[in-house]
Amino acid sequence: MIDFEFEPAVRAQLKMYHAVAENLMRPISREYDEREHEKPWQFYETMWSAAQSLGPGAAPAKSAAADKGDGAQKLRNLYTVLSTEELCWGDAGLFLSIPNPGLGGAAVAAAGTPEQKERFLKRFREGKPKWGAMAITEPGCGSDSAAITTTATRDGDDFVINGTKIFCTAGQMSAEKSEGFVVVWATLDCGAGRAGIKPFVVEHNTPGMTVTRVEDKLGIRASDTAMIVFDNCRVPANHLLGSAEVKTGGFKDVMATFDATRPIVAAMAIGVGRAALDYVRDFLRDQKVPIRYGISPRRLTAVERDFMEMEVQLKAARLLTWRAAWMLDMGIRNSLEASMAKAKAGRAVTLITQKAVEILGPLGYSRKVLVEKWMRDAKINDIFEGTQQINLMIVARRILDYSSKELN
Ligand SMILES: Cc1cc2nc3c(=O)[nH]c(=O)nc-3n(C[C@H](O)[C@H](O)[C@H](O)COP(=O)(O)OP(=O)(O)OC[C@H]3O[C@@H](n4cnc5c(N)ncnc54)[C@H](O)[C@@H]3O)c2cc1C
Repeated sequence: MIDFEFEPAVRAQLKMYHAVAENLMRPISREYDEREHEKPWQFYETMWSAAQSLGPGAAPAKSAAADKGDGAQKLRNLYTVLSTEELCWGDAGLFLSIPNPGLGGAAVAAAGTPEQKERFLKRFREGKPKWGAMAITEPGCGSDSAAITTTATRDGDDFVINGTKIFCTAGQMSAEKSEGFVVVWATLDCGAGRAGIKPFVVEHNTPGMTVTRVEDKLGIRASDTAMIVFDNCRVPANHLLGSAEVKTGGFKDVMATFDATRPIVAAMAIGVGRAALDYVRDFLRDQKVPIRYGISPRRLTAVERDFMEMEVQLKAARLLTWRAAWMLDMGIRNSLEASMAKAKAGRAVTLITQKAVEILGPLGYSRKVLVEKWMRDAKINDIFEGTQQINLMIVARRILDYSSKELN
């Protein structure tokens, strides 16, 4: 028997996250979509205080239920995707801008030594709001991370980093405006391909790290997306996460970051999709358009078919996402499931939000309601943390047992 019921304590936590989404995020959602580069400082402070009150190490994207005992702690990743869905039902851009270690923290957790985890993540437990970011993408390299050209050269007790990173989520907040950090992927040996690529922690305001541009975007406009230039940027050697050895297979440890972050992005997509679905459900109810379940598919109206398809897509994506997160909690390798969840959820939310705009007609396309915004916010889930095509390719590779050389 498979049980999908959550314990009362978890349900109570999710209710709290939903209240945050409804009362703190939705009211400012349109405002910070339209004023893209302005910062909702009051919201940040509130979310930061809430995270601190949840206890040591708690981050807003992590359910407090995860801190309530051993059983809950074991399901930390599952609770993270649940809380992410709730908060992104509120606003995905604001969710990405909440002060927390973010993708940078995920990289430290996945690739760092126990000592590095303690050293770099400790600061997120106290003081003023802080952010973390991860910088992989470059002007000439996105999907193919083996093509990274940013270099890290050993010089005495330091590494010296040179290169340009683009489209770094929370890059400006992490590099300039808080006591956060940016985890930068750079190569120790340009001739070594993937084996030479290592993640380095670069502390905020380190000389040589400069934010040179903040992007104007289609969606998730409350989240900053930065170009960062590293010009002879010097970091202590112990800021290299994990082993400095350039060896075949070493890149797997670095890539493990995605096993944790892809289910979170999938949950973001599900939150946005659910927002659109809920809106359409209420709209149809107000218009007295029934959704008749349990009748022959031949007798369904086009709207009923569309709505049920949207529901099916959302539920399928959610189940895949829960499985991927749960496997991570159980210590089971989940690269296949994480990519499946991410690919499915990215596609599902794109379809659901476009259908929502379509079903609502002119209202859906207008700025009177948030549905057009959700359609814009949806697409990023098909792009970052591996595009739709890349995740499908990973799924194919793993199912068919091909290497990245054989299927690319
Ligand atoms: C808002 C936003 C936030 C982002 N945040 C971050 C961040 O925090 N950190 C970070 O490092 N990056 C971030 N990115 C970058 C993102 O991860 C990349 O855009 C993504 O990995 C794709 O890389 P690319 O844009 O270079 O596209 P390309 O790799 O050039 O791909 C272009 C198209 O070709 C397809 N394609 C590529 N290779 C293949 C293949 N082998 N088979 C089939 N199709 C293929 C892709 O799916 C895509 O559709 C962000 C991007 C955006 C838009």
